[in-house]
Amino acid sequence: MAAIIQIRQKEKFMGTMKHGVDLLEEITKICQERSIHLGSIEAIGAVQKASIAFYNQTKRDYVPMTINEPLEMTSLTGNISIKDGNPFVHAHVTLADSKGNVYGGHLAPGTIVFACEFIIKTFDGLMLERRFDEDTGLSLWSLQE
Ligand code: ZN
Repeated sequence: MAAIIQIRQKEKFMGTMKHGVDLLEEITKICQERSIHLGSIEAIGAVQKASIAFYNQTKRDYVPMTINEPLEMTSLTGNISIKDGNPFVHAHVTLADSKGNVYGGHLAPGTIVFACEFIIKTFDGLMLERRFDEDTGLSLWSLQE
């Protein structure tokens, strides 16, 4: 059975990021500065290079992947919750190269912004905390069933 909670939409922010910042660190910083504990993020733009990861379900470990070329950020989607008492951003990206080939994965530190336009939506609800999940080896939302 699915574990579901009800949330209420609160604020909405639109913004841009400075050229050269680390994409994941910048989103996390914005959430910390504005005390965003629960929310969603979407973004488009371009990156100078990318660091993404693939979760190996057997080894239960992230396999890092670095793409050292300019890429279009065709989509970033993610959520914001709490991990270890602090706002934590979990985001996935799809990135296209000059031929339109797409890379995709779990956004990791080391993805450098060329340009980025983002929208953050915040929610009212409980403090959604990530906890270690035995079935997957991941830190997942701890929802009471
Ligand atoms: Zn992920």
